[in-house]
Amino acid sequence: MNITVENVSKHFGTSKTAALEHVNLNVESGELVALLGPSGSGKTTLLRAIAGLEAPDSGRILFDGIDATERAPGERGVGFVFQHYALFKHMTVFENVAFGLRVRPRETRPSNVEIEKRVRELLKLVQLDFAERRHPWQLSGGQRQRIALARALAVEPNVLLLDEPFGALDAKVREELRDWLRRLHDEIHLTSVFVTHDQDEALEIADRVAVFNAGKIEQLGTPEAVYDHPASGFVYHFLGRSNALPDGLVRPHEFHVSSTPRPGYRQGTLKFIRLVGANARLEVEGEGVSAPIEIEIGKGQLEGELTPGAAVYYQPHTIRTFPTTN
Ligand code: ADP
Ligand code: MG
Repeated sequence: MNITVENVSKHFGTSKTAALEHVNLNVESGELVALLGPSGSGKTTLLRAIAGLEAPDSGRILFDGIDATERAPGERGVGFVFQHYALFKHMTVFENVAFGLRVRPRETRPSNVEIEKRVRELLKLVQLDFAERRHPWQLSGGQRQRIALARALAVEPNVLLLDEPFGALDAKVREELRDWLRRLHDEIHLTSVFVTHDQDEALEIADRVAVFNAGKIEQLGTPEAVYDHPASGFVYHFLGRSNALPDGLVRPHEFHVSSTPRPGYRQGTLKFIRLVGANARLEVEGEGVSAPIEIEIGKGQLEGELTPGAAVYYQPHTIRTFPTTN
C-alpha cells in the first residue's frame, strides 16, 4: 500500500504557527520512511493525520491513490505503536496480541484456532514466543515494545505507523531494537512511517528520511543523501555536530590533523585530547575561531605526537556553506 500526503495543512486553535504547512510526502509500498525533526515540528501531527486521528484543515491523504481523508481510523487498516506501550496489564502477552482479533465483529472474526495460530506466528516473529503466558509487568521495556508491535501487526494492517516507539528506552536497548526493527521490516516489507527526533535512529533505520522543520518538510531523501548533501543549514545542523569556521561549516570527522606545520594546514592550540575506542577526540583553539573546534579522527591517522597545550595543525577536507543558515 502506498501513502500519498498531498498539500496537507493543520493549524491548532489559537497557535500563531501552523503544525503542518502544505506538506507533501509519498511513501512507496513496502518502504520505511522516517519523519525526523525537533520536538514540535509536526511529526506526530502528520502521523495522526495519516492514521485518521487528526483531520487536516486542507489537503488530502491517499492510500494507493484513493482518497482516504474522510475515512475513519478503523477503516484505514493502520497499525499504530506509541512511545508508551499501552499494553493491557491484566492480560497475558498472548491475550494482548490477540485483542484486536477478538474484538472484531462476528462476521470478520477469525476462529479461536485461527487466532491462536496467528498470535503464535507473531510472537515468533518478534522473538517472544517463550513469553506468551507472562504479563506485561514480567517483561523488560524492550520486550513490551515488541509485544506492542506484534499487537499492531495482528490485525494485518496495510500500513504501520510508529511514533517514537523506542523513545522511553535506554540507549543500548534502543540500538538493539533499531537493528531488530530494520531486519523485521526487511522480512515483512510492510509500508511503515517511523517518527523520531533521534538522527542516528532515523539514518540507520529508514529507506528515506523526511526532515521536518516548523511544520514543513525541509528535505526528503535517502539517509546518505540527507547526510552528505543537506539541502539547507537547518538539515546540516540537525543531522550532526559541526564547527563554524570563518569560511564554512565542518563536521568533527572532516579534518586532517598534524603535530607539525604542513602546507595548507591552519594553526591552533590543542586544548584537550581523549581516545574513545578507535578514535581520538580533540578540542582545538583555532586562530580566528571563537568556539573550540571539535575534531574526531581515527587513532591511526594522527600524524605525530599531540600534547595538550602545544601547537597543532589542522586542515578541513570538506567545507560546506549555505546561503542562509537558520
Ligand atoms: P512533534 O511530534 O514533531 O514533536 P507535534 O506534531 O506533536 O510535533 O506538534 C506540532 C505543533 O502542533 C506543536 O507546536 C504542538 O504544540 C502543536 N499541537 C500538536 N497537537 C496539538 C493539539 N492537540 N492542540 C494544540 N496544539 C497541538
Ligand atoms: Mg511527537
